[in-house]
Amino acid sequence: SNPFFDLNYESALESLGNDFFDRVQPVNFSEHTLRFRNDNLLSILGLDSNRVTDRHFLDFGGHFQGKQSCLALRYHGYQFGQYNPYLGDGRGFLYGQIRGIDGQLYDFGTKGSGQTPHSQSRDGRLTLKGGVREVLAAEALHYSGVRTSRCLSLVETEAFTRDGETEKGAVMVRFSRSHLRFGTFERLEYYDRPDLIQQLLDHVIQYYYPHLWQQQDCYIRFYTELVERIAQLVGQWMAVGFCHGVLNTDNMSITGESFDYGPYAFIDTYNPYFTAAAFDRQGRYSYRNQPGACRWNLEMLQRPLSAVIPVSEMAAALDTFSESYTRYYHQQMLRKLGFDRLSVWETEELIDLTLQLLFLTKVNYHQFFCELKQKFSRQWREDANSILQDLEFLVSGEEVAILKRWCWLYHQLLIMRSPTEIDITAQCLQRVNPTVILSKSAIENIWQAIREDDNWQPFIDFIQLVRV
Ligand code: AMP
Ligand code: MG
Ligand code: MG
Repeated sequence: SNPFFDLNYESALESLGNDFFDRVQPVNFSEHTLRFRNDNLLSILGLDSNRVTDRHFLDFGGHFQGKQSCLALRYHGYQFGQYNPYLGDGRGFLYGQIRGIDGQLYDFGTKGSGQTPHSQSRDGRLTLKGGVREVLAAEALHYSGVRTSRCLSLVETEAFTRDGETEKGAVMVRFSRSHLRFGTFERLEYYDRPDLIQQLLDHVIQYYYPHLWQQQDCYIRFYTELVERIAQLVGQWMAVGFCHGVLNTDNMSITGESFDYGPYAFIDTYNPYFTAAAFDRQGRYSYRNQPGACRWNLEMLQRPLSAVIPVSEMAAALDTFSESYTRYYHQQMLRKLGFDRLSVWETEELIDLTLQLLFLTKVNYHQFFCELKQKFSRQWREDANSILQDLEFLVSGEEVAILKRWCWLYHQLLIMRSPTEIDITAQCLQRVNPTVILSKSAIENIWQAIREDDNWQPFIDFIQLVRV
Protein backbone atom coordinates (compact mmCIF):
# COMPACT_ATOMS: atom_id res chain seq x y z
CA SER A 1 0.00 0.00 0.00
CA ASN A 2 0.99 3.61 -0.57
CA PRO A 3 1.08 5.90 2.47
CA PHE A 4 -0.14 8.85 0.38
CA PHE A 5 -3.27 6.97 -0.63
CA ASP A 6 -3.81 5.80 2.93
CA LEU A 7 -3.91 9.28 4.47
CA ASN A 8 -7.14 10.33 6.13
CA TYR A 9 -8.70 12.52 3.49
CA GLU A 10 -11.40 15.02 4.33
CA SER A 11 -13.86 16.27 1.77
CA ALA A 12 -14.34 19.82 2.96
CA LEU A 13 -14.54 21.25 -0.54
CA GLU A 14 -16.84 18.56 -1.81
CA SER A 15 -19.16 19.33 1.07
CA LEU A 16 -19.71 22.77 -0.46
CA GLY A 17 -21.71 21.12 -3.21
CA ASN A 18 -21.60 20.76 -6.95
CA ASP A 19 -21.75 24.43 -7.77
CA PHE A 20 -18.15 24.90 -6.70
CA PHE A 21 -16.32 22.42 -8.91
CA ASP A 22 -16.41 19.95 -11.76
CA ARG A 23 -15.41 16.34 -11.40
CA VAL A 24 -12.51 15.60 -13.67
CA GLN A 25 -10.40 12.66 -14.70
CA PRO A 26 -6.65 13.24 -14.61
CA VAL A 27 -4.65 11.83 -17.51
CA ASN A 28 -2.54 8.82 -16.68
CA PHE A 29 0.57 9.68 -18.65
CA SER A 30 2.58 6.77 -19.97
CA GLU A 31 6.03 8.04 -19.02
CA HIS A 32 6.92 8.89 -15.46
CA THR A 33 10.22 9.88 -13.90
CA LEU A 34 10.38 11.22 -10.38
CA ARG A 35 12.47 14.39 -10.44
CA PHE A 36 11.82 15.83 -7.02
CA ARG A 37 10.48 14.49 -3.73
CA ASN A 38 9.94 16.90 -0.90
CA ASP A 39 10.79 14.88 2.17
CA ASN A 40 10.54 17.97 4.33
CA LEU A 41 6.77 17.95 3.91
CA LEU A 42 6.31 14.40 5.15
CA SER A 43 6.45 15.10 8.85
CA ILE A 44 3.52 17.50 8.69
CA LEU A 45 1.54 14.62 7.16
CA GLY A 46 2.68 12.37 9.97
CA LEU A 47 4.77 10.28 7.56
CA ASP A 48 8.27 8.93 8.16
CA SER A 49 10.48 9.68 5.16
CA ASN A 50 12.32 6.38 5.56
CA ARG A 51 9.12 4.56 4.84
CA VAL A 52 8.10 6.54 1.80
CA THR A 53 9.74 5.24 -1.34
CA ASP A 54 10.26 6.94 -4.69
CA ARG A 55 7.66 4.54 -6.04
CA HIS A 56 5.13 5.94 -3.57
CA PHE A 57 5.85 9.50 -4.68
CA LEU A 58 5.70 8.48 -8.30
CA ASP A 59 2.44 6.60 -8.04
CA PHE A 60 0.83 9.42 -6.10
CA GLY A 61 1.87 12.24 -8.39
CA GLY A 62 1.92 10.41 -11.66
CA HIS A 63 -0.81 7.80 -11.65
CA PHE A 64 -3.48 8.63 -9.09
CA GLN A 65 -4.26 4.98 -8.78
CA GLY A 66 -7.35 4.25 -6.75
CA LYS A 67 -8.82 7.69 -7.36
CA GLN A 68 -12.10 7.88 -9.25
CA SER A 69 -12.06 11.57 -9.93
CA CYS A 70 -10.55 14.86 -8.86
CA LEU A 71 -12.06 18.31 -8.60
CA ALA A 72 -11.42 21.21 -10.94
CA LEU A 73 -12.45 24.29 -9.00
CA ARG A 74 -14.63 26.98 -10.52
CA TYR A 75 -13.55 30.58 -10.23
CA HIS A 76 -13.38 33.84 -12.13
CA GLY A 77 -11.10 36.78 -11.61
CA TYR A 78 -9.80 40.19 -12.57
CA GLN A 79 -6.88 39.72 -14.90
CA PHE A 80 -4.83 42.87 -15.42
CA GLY A 81 -7.84 44.84 -14.26
CA GLN A 82 -10.37 43.16 -16.57
CA TYR A 83 -13.04 40.83 -15.31
CA ASN A 84 -12.71 37.37 -16.84
CA PRO A 85 -15.50 34.82 -16.33
CA TYR A 86 -13.68 32.22 -18.48
CA LEU A 87 -11.35 30.99 -15.79
CA GLY A 88 -11.28 28.08 -13.37
CA ASP A 89 -8.83 25.22 -12.93
CA GLY A 90 -7.72 24.54 -16.49
CA ARG A 91 -4.92 22.19 -15.53
CA GLY A 92 -5.25 22.02 -11.75
CA PHE A 93 -6.74 18.89 -10.19
CA LEU A 94 -7.65 18.82 -6.54
CA TYR A 95 -6.81 15.33 -5.39
CA GLY A 96 -7.83 15.64 -1.76
CA GLN A 97 -7.62 17.50 1.50
CA ILE A 98 -5.74 16.35 4.51
CA ARG A 99 -5.34 17.59 8.06
CA GLY A 100 -1.70 18.13 8.98
CA ILE A 101 -0.36 17.21 12.39
CA ASP A 102 -0.48 20.97 13.06
CA GLY A 103 -4.28 20.66 12.92
CA GLN A 104 -4.61 22.72 9.75
CA LEU A 105 -6.37 21.56 6.63
CA TYR A 106 -4.24 21.32 3.46
CA ASP A 107 -4.99 20.76 -0.21
CA PHE A 108 -3.21 18.24 -2.40
CA GLY A 109 -3.59 19.05 -6.04
CA THR A 110 -1.74 18.44 -9.23
CA LYS A 111 -0.87 20.93 -11.90
CA GLY A 112 -0.57 19.58 -15.41
CA SER A 113 -2.75 16.45 -15.27
CA GLY A 114 -4.64 17.31 -18.44
CA GLN A 115 -7.64 19.28 -19.58
CA THR A 116 -10.76 20.23 -17.64
CA PRO A 117 -13.99 22.04 -18.58
CA HIS A 118 -12.06 25.26 -17.86
CA SER A 119 -9.10 24.67 -20.15
CA GLN A 120 -10.67 26.64 -23.01
CA SER A 121 -8.40 25.89 -25.94
CA ARG A 122 -5.37 25.29 -23.77
CA ASP A 123 -3.60 21.98 -23.39
CA GLY A 124 -3.91 21.32 -19.65
CA ARG A 125 -0.23 20.53 -19.47
CA LEU A 126 2.62 21.84 -17.37
CA THR A 127 6.02 22.28 -18.93
CA LEU A 128 8.87 20.70 -17.04
CA LYS A 129 10.45 24.14 -16.90
CA GLY A 130 7.29 25.57 -15.34
CA GLY A 131 7.31 22.76 -12.78
CA VAL A 132 10.98 23.30 -11.96
CA ARG A 133 10.37 27.02 -11.57
CA GLU A 134 7.46 26.50 -9.18
CA VAL A 135 9.38 24.03 -7.01
CA LEU A 136 12.28 26.47 -6.78
CA ALA A 137 10.10 29.50 -5.99
CA ALA A 138 8.17 27.69 -3.29
CA GLU A 139 11.31 26.38 -1.58
CA ALA A 140 13.15 29.71 -1.82
CA LEU A 141 10.21 31.66 -0.42
CA HIS A 142 9.41 29.16 2.30
CA TYR A 143 12.95 29.21 3.61
CA SER A 144 12.91 33.01 3.52
CA GLY A 145 10.00 32.88 5.96
CA VAL A 146 7.21 33.60 3.47
CA ARG A 147 3.92 31.70 3.87
CA THR A 148 3.67 29.84 0.62
CA SER A 149 2.26 26.79 -1.09
CA ARG A 150 4.85 24.03 -1.48
CA CYS A 151 5.54 21.27 -3.95
CA LEU A 152 5.35 17.69 -2.75
CA SER A 153 6.77 16.20 -5.91
CA LEU A 154 7.63 16.77 -9.52
CA VAL A 155 7.22 13.96 -12.02
CA GLU A 156 8.49 14.30 -15.56
CA THR A 157 5.99 12.96 -18.08
CA GLU A 158 6.13 12.56 -21.83
CA ALA A 159 6.94 15.54 -24.02
CA PHE A 160 4.20 17.42 -25.84
CA THR A 161 3.88 20.04 -28.53
CA ARG A 162 2.81 23.57 -27.67
CA ASP A 163 2.83 26.38 -30.22
CA GLY A 164 4.84 24.18 -32.58
CA GLU A 165 7.58 23.60 -30.01
CA THR A 166 8.34 20.31 -28.31
CA GLU A 167 8.18 20.77 -24.56
CA LYS A 168 9.25 18.43 -21.81
CA GLY A 169 6.15 17.75 -19.72
CA ALA A 170 5.55 17.39 -16.01
CA VAL A 171 2.99 16.87 -13.29
CA MET A 172 3.59 18.69 -10.08
CA VAL A 173 1.85 17.94 -6.80
CA ARG A 174 1.06 21.14 -4.99
CA PHE A 175 0.58 21.21 -1.25
CA SER A 176 -1.18 24.35 -0.17
CA ARG A 177 -3.33 25.84 2.54
CA SER A 178 -6.23 26.27 0.12
CA HIS A 179 -6.98 26.68 -3.55
CA LEU A 180 -9.93 28.95 -2.77
CA ARG A 181 -9.20 32.37 -4.17
CA PHE A 182 -10.66 35.85 -4.27
CA GLY A 183 -11.94 34.79 -7.69
CA THR A 184 -13.98 31.97 -6.15
CA PHE A 185 -16.12 34.64 -4.47
CA GLU A 186 -16.13 36.87 -7.54
CA ARG A 187 -17.70 34.15 -9.63
CA LEU A 188 -20.59 33.86 -7.18
CA GLU A 189 -21.19 37.61 -7.37
CA TYR A 190 -21.21 37.36 -11.17
CA TYR A 191 -23.99 34.76 -11.01
CA ASP A 192 -25.78 36.78 -8.33
CA ARG A 193 -25.68 34.06 -5.67
CA PRO A 194 -25.55 35.78 -2.26
CA ASP A 195 -26.65 32.48 -0.70
CA LEU A 196 -23.52 30.76 -1.97
CA ILE A 197 -21.34 33.70 -0.98
CA GLN A 198 -22.65 33.33 2.56
CA GLN A 199 -22.01 29.58 2.43
CA LEU A 200 -18.48 29.97 1.09
CA LEU A 201 -17.65 32.67 3.60
CA ASP A 202 -18.80 30.46 6.47
CA HIS A 203 -16.73 27.64 5.04
CA VAL A 204 -13.60 29.80 4.72
CA ILE A 205 -13.90 31.08 8.28
CA GLN A 206 -14.62 27.65 9.77
CA TYR A 207 -11.70 25.99 8.05
CA TYR A 208 -9.10 28.72 7.66
CA TYR A 209 -9.98 31.29 10.33
CA PRO A 210 -11.41 28.96 13.00
CA HIS A 211 -10.44 31.30 15.84
CA LEU A 212 -12.99 33.77 14.45
CA TRP A 213 -15.83 31.35 13.97
CA GLN A 214 -18.91 32.14 16.04
CA GLN A 215 -17.31 35.22 17.44
CA GLN A 216 -19.31 38.38 17.31
CA ASP A 217 -18.62 40.25 14.07
CA CYS A 218 -16.74 37.25 12.70
CA TYR A 219 -17.34 38.34 9.09
CA ILE A 220 -15.75 41.75 9.30
CA ARG A 221 -13.04 40.30 11.49
CA PHE A 222 -12.31 37.81 8.75
CA TYR A 223 -11.95 40.56 6.16
CA THR A 224 -9.81 42.62 8.54
CA GLU A 225 -7.52 39.66 9.15
CA LEU A 226 -7.28 38.91 5.45
CA VAL A 227 -6.22 42.53 4.84
CA GLU A 228 -3.58 42.08 7.54
CA ARG A 229 -2.34 38.74 6.16
CA ILE A 230 -2.03 40.11 2.63
CA ALA A 231 -0.24 43.22 3.92
CA GLN A 232 2.22 40.95 5.68
CA LEU A 233 2.69 38.73 2.64
CA VAL A 234 3.41 41.60 0.28
CA GLY A 235 5.69 43.21 2.89
CA GLN A 236 7.70 39.98 2.93
CA TRP A 237 7.78 39.69 -0.86
CA MET A 238 9.10 43.23 -1.13
CA ALA A 239 11.79 42.72 1.51
CA VAL A 240 13.07 39.48 -0.01
CA GLY A 241 13.03 41.12 -3.45
CA PHE A 242 10.33 38.91 -4.93
CA CYS A 243 8.11 39.94 -7.81
CA HIS A 244 5.14 37.60 -8.26
CA GLY A 245 4.38 38.78 -11.77
CA VAL A 246 0.68 37.95 -12.12
CA LEU A 247 -1.29 39.36 -9.20
CA ASN A 248 -4.69 38.70 -10.71
CA THR A 249 -7.51 38.01 -8.26
CA ASP A 250 -7.58 34.34 -9.29
CA ASN A 251 -4.02 34.08 -7.97
CA MET A 252 -4.87 35.53 -4.56
CA SER A 253 -5.42 32.82 -1.97
CA ILE A 254 -8.21 33.43 0.52
CA THR A 255 -5.82 32.29 3.24
CA GLY A 256 -3.26 34.99 2.43
CA GLU A 257 -0.73 32.41 1.36
CA SER A 258 1.56 33.05 -1.60
CA PHE A 259 0.91 30.71 -4.55
CA ASP A 260 0.82 30.11 -8.31
CA TYR A 261 4.31 30.84 -9.57
CA GLY A 262 4.34 31.58 -13.30
CA PRO A 263 6.64 34.28 -14.62
CA TYR A 264 7.87 35.42 -11.19
CA ALA A 265 11.37 36.75 -10.61
CA PHE A 266 13.58 37.91 -7.79
CA ILE A 267 15.00 41.36 -8.49
CA ASP A 268 18.72 41.61 -9.19
CA THR A 269 19.10 45.28 -8.37
CA TYR A 270 16.74 47.54 -6.48
CA ASN A 271 14.70 48.75 -9.44
CA PRO A 272 11.17 49.71 -8.36
CA TYR A 273 9.97 49.48 -11.99
CA PHE A 274 11.20 45.93 -12.46
CA THR A 275 8.52 43.76 -14.09
CA ALA A 276 8.68 39.97 -13.97
CA ALA A 277 6.21 39.05 -16.73
CA ALA A 278 7.28 40.01 -20.24
CA PHE A 279 3.61 40.33 -21.26
CA ASP A 280 2.96 42.90 -18.51
CA ARG A 281 3.79 45.82 -20.79
CA GLN A 282 2.25 48.51 -18.59
CA GLY A 283 4.07 47.25 -15.51
CA ARG A 284 0.79 46.79 -13.67
CA TYR A 285 2.43 44.14 -11.49
CA SER A 286 5.89 45.67 -11.31
CA TYR A 287 7.92 45.23 -8.13
CA ARG A 288 6.84 48.57 -6.66
CA ASN A 289 3.19 48.15 -7.67
CA GLN A 290 2.71 44.94 -5.71
CA PRO A 291 1.33 46.54 -2.53
CA GLY A 292 -1.08 48.67 -4.59
CA ALA A 293 -2.14 45.70 -6.73
CA CYS A 294 -2.88 43.59 -3.65
CA ARG A 295 -4.83 46.44 -2.10
CA TRP A 296 -6.86 46.80 -5.30
CA ASN A 297 -7.61 43.07 -5.24
CA LEU A 298 -8.80 43.34 -1.65
CA GLU A 299 -11.02 46.22 -2.69
CA MET A 300 -12.56 44.20 -5.53
CA LEU A 301 -13.24 41.40 -3.08
CA GLN A 302 -15.57 43.74 -1.23
CA ARG A 303 -18.08 43.43 -4.07
CA PRO A 304 -18.98 39.77 -3.47
CA LEU A 305 -18.46 40.04 0.28
CA SER A 306 -20.89 42.95 0.45
CA ALA A 307 -23.61 40.29 0.27
CA VAL A 308 -22.71 39.57 3.91
CA ILE A 309 -20.48 42.35 5.27
CA PRO A 310 -21.32 46.08 5.32
CA VAL A 311 -19.18 47.91 2.76
CA SER A 312 -18.44 50.79 5.12
CA GLU A 313 -16.87 48.35 7.59
CA MET A 314 -14.76 46.73 4.89
CA ALA A 315 -13.67 50.14 3.60
CA ALA A 316 -12.50 51.06 7.09
CA ALA A 317 -10.61 47.76 7.39
CA LEU A 318 -8.95 48.29 4.02
CA ASP A 319 -7.83 51.73 5.14
CA THR A 320 -5.40 50.00 7.49
CA PHE A 321 -3.72 48.17 4.61
CA SER A 322 -1.07 50.69 3.75
CA GLU A 323 -0.04 51.24 7.36
CA SER A 324 0.12 47.48 8.02
CA TYR A 325 2.08 46.91 4.86
CA THR A 326 4.63 49.58 5.78
CA ARG A 327 4.94 48.16 9.28
CA TYR A 328 5.66 44.63 7.99
CA TYR A 329 7.96 45.83 5.25
CA HIS A 330 9.96 47.97 7.65
CA GLN A 331 10.15 45.14 10.15
CA GLN A 332 11.59 42.80 7.51
CA MET A 333 14.00 45.39 6.14
CA LEU A 334 15.25 46.24 9.63
CA ARG A 335 15.96 42.58 10.23
CA LYS A 336 17.86 42.37 6.97
CA LEU A 337 19.96 45.22 8.37
CA GLY A 338 20.47 43.44 11.67
CA PHE A 339 18.02 45.29 13.90
CA ASP A 340 14.97 44.02 15.69
CA ARG A 341 13.62 47.45 16.39
CA LEU A 342 14.65 51.07 16.14
CA SER A 343 12.74 54.26 16.74
CA VAL A 344 10.34 55.30 13.99
CA TRP A 345 12.68 58.08 12.96
CA GLU A 346 15.75 55.83 12.85
CA THR A 347 13.83 53.12 10.99
CA GLU A 348 12.76 55.47 8.23
CA GLU A 349 16.15 57.14 8.01
CA LEU A 350 18.02 53.84 7.73
CA ILE A 351 15.65 52.16 5.27
CA ASP A 352 15.36 55.24 3.05
CA LEU A 353 19.09 55.67 2.86
CA THR A 354 19.64 51.95 2.24
CA LEU A 355 17.16 51.98 -0.64
CA GLN A 356 18.76 55.13 -2.07
CA LEU A 357 22.12 53.46 -1.91
CA LEU A 358 20.82 50.31 -3.58
CA PHE A 359 19.02 52.31 -6.26
CA LEU A 360 21.86 54.69 -7.12
CA THR A 361 24.72 52.22 -7.02
CA LYS A 362 22.80 49.33 -8.62
CA VAL A 363 24.71 46.96 -6.38
CA ASN A 364 23.06 43.55 -6.40
CA TYR A 365 20.20 43.71 -3.89
CA HIS A 366 20.89 40.32 -2.32
CA GLN A 367 24.65 40.59 -2.46
CA PHE A 368 24.52 43.82 -0.47
CA PHE A 369 22.78 42.13 2.47
CA CYS A 370 24.91 39.03 2.11
CA GLU A 371 28.08 41.15 2.33
CA LEU A 372 26.71 42.80 5.45
CA LYS A 373 26.35 39.47 7.16
CA GLN A 374 29.71 38.20 5.97
CA LYS A 375 31.77 41.33 6.65
CA PHE A 376 30.09 42.43 9.85
CA SER A 377 32.51 42.70 12.76
CA ARG A 378 32.67 44.30 16.17
CA GLN A 379 35.10 46.77 14.67
CA TRP A 380 32.13 48.30 12.81
CA ARG A 381 30.86 49.66 16.11
CA GLU A 382 34.17 51.34 16.89
CA ASP A 383 34.86 53.02 13.61
CA ALA A 384 32.75 53.99 10.58
CA ASN A 385 35.81 53.80 8.35
CA SER A 386 36.15 50.09 8.91
CA ILE A 387 32.62 49.63 7.49
CA LEU A 388 33.56 51.67 4.46
CA GLN A 389 36.78 49.72 3.97
CA ASP A 390 34.89 46.43 4.09
CA LEU A 391 32.17 47.49 1.65
CA GLU A 392 33.93 49.92 -0.66
CA PHE A 393 34.58 47.25 -3.28
CA LEU A 394 30.83 47.17 -3.98
CA VAL A 395 30.76 50.63 -5.51
CA SER A 396 32.81 52.76 -7.87
CA GLY A 397 33.66 56.40 -8.49
CA GLU A 398 31.12 58.93 -7.27
CA GLU A 399 29.01 56.24 -5.65
CA VAL A 400 31.47 56.20 -2.74
CA ALA A 401 29.81 59.39 -1.47
CA ILE A 402 26.47 57.74 -0.77
CA LEU A 403 28.13 54.63 0.63
CA LYS A 404 30.04 56.90 3.02
CA ARG A 405 26.80 58.49 4.19
CA TRP A 406 25.31 55.04 4.69
CA CYS A 407 28.33 53.79 6.66
CA TRP A 408 28.21 56.87 8.85
CA LEU A 409 24.53 56.33 9.68
CA TYR A 410 24.97 52.60 10.24
CA HIS A 411 27.89 53.30 12.55
CA GLN A 412 25.79 55.82 14.53
CA LEU A 413 23.17 53.15 15.09
CA LEU A 414 25.74 50.55 16.12
CA ILE A 415 27.40 52.88 18.66
CA MET A 416 24.16 52.94 20.59
CA ARG A 417 24.22 49.19 21.00
CA SER A 418 25.86 47.24 23.84
CA PRO A 419 28.37 44.48 23.03
CA THR A 420 25.61 41.89 23.60
CA GLU A 421 23.32 43.75 21.23
CA ILE A 422 26.11 43.84 18.66
CA ASP A 423 26.26 40.05 18.83
CA ILE A 424 22.50 39.94 18.34
CA THR A 425 22.86 42.13 15.26
CA ALA A 426 25.48 39.77 13.86
CA GLN A 427 23.21 36.78 14.48
CA CYS A 428 20.22 38.55 12.96
CA LEU A 429 22.18 39.38 9.79
CA GLN A 430 23.19 35.72 9.55
CA ARG A 431 19.72 34.37 10.11
CA VAL A 432 17.79 36.64 7.80
CA ASN A 433 19.99 37.14 4.76
CA PRO A 434 20.36 34.13 2.47
CA THR A 435 23.61 33.23 0.79
CA VAL A 436 22.05 31.68 -2.30
CA ILE A 437 19.49 33.56 -4.32
CA LEU A 438 17.06 32.31 -6.90
CA SER A 439 18.17 34.90 -9.43
CA LYS A 440 17.11 34.73 -13.04
CA SER A 441 20.58 33.53 -13.97
CA ALA A 442 20.53 30.85 -11.26
CA ILE A 443 17.24 29.51 -12.66
CA GLU A 444 18.58 29.69 -16.19
CA ASN A 445 21.70 27.69 -15.23
CA ILE A 446 19.64 25.08 -13.41
CA TRP A 447 17.31 24.77 -16.38
CA GLN A 448 20.15 24.61 -18.96
CA ALA A 449 21.69 21.65 -17.15
CA ILE A 450 18.34 19.83 -17.11
CA ARG A 451 17.39 20.63 -20.67
CA GLU A 452 20.72 20.06 -22.32
CA ASP A 453 22.29 17.31 -20.24
CA ASP A 454 19.44 15.86 -18.23
CA ASN A 455 21.60 16.88 -15.30
CA TRP A 456 19.51 17.46 -12.17
CA GLN A 457 22.45 18.02 -9.85
CA PRO A 458 22.39 21.86 -9.94
CA PHE A 459 18.67 21.74 -9.16
CA ILE A 460 19.19 19.38 -6.22
CA ASP A 461 22.22 21.33 -4.99
CA PHE A 462 20.30 24.59 -5.10
CA ILE A 463 17.44 23.22 -3.04
CA GLN A 464 19.93 21.88 -0.50
CA LEU A 465 21.61 25.27 -0.20
CA VAL A 466 18.41 27.27 0.01
CA ARG A 467 17.36 25.16 2.97
CA VAL A 468 20.45 25.94 5.06
P1 AMP B 1 -2.49 31.63 -14.35
O1 AMP B 1 -2.13 32.89 -15.07
O2 AMP B 1 -1.41 30.61 -14.33
O3 AMP B 1 -3.02 31.89 -13.00
O4 AMP B 1 -3.65 30.94 -15.20
C1 AMP B 1 -4.85 31.60 -15.55
C2 AMP B 1 -5.86 30.60 -16.00
O5 AMP B 1 -5.40 29.91 -17.17
C3 AMP B 1 -6.23 29.55 -15.00
O6 AMP B 1 -7.60 29.35 -15.08
C4 AMP B 1 -5.43 28.34 -15.46
O7 AMP B 1 -6.02 27.12 -15.07
C5 AMP B 1 -5.46 28.50 -16.96
N1 AMP B 1 -4.34 27.87 -17.65
C6 AMP B 1 -3.07 28.32 -17.68
N2 AMP B 1 -2.30 27.51 -18.42
C7 AMP B 1 -3.09 26.51 -18.86
C8 AMP B 1 -2.88 25.35 -19.69
N3 AMP B 1 -1.69 25.05 -20.19
N4 AMP B 1 -3.96 24.56 -19.92
C9 AMP B 1 -5.15 24.85 -19.42
N5 AMP B 1 -5.42 25.91 -18.66
C10 AMP B 1 -4.40 26.74 -18.38
MG1 MG C 1 -3.55 30.86 -11.46
MG1 MG D 1 -0.43 29.56 -13.10
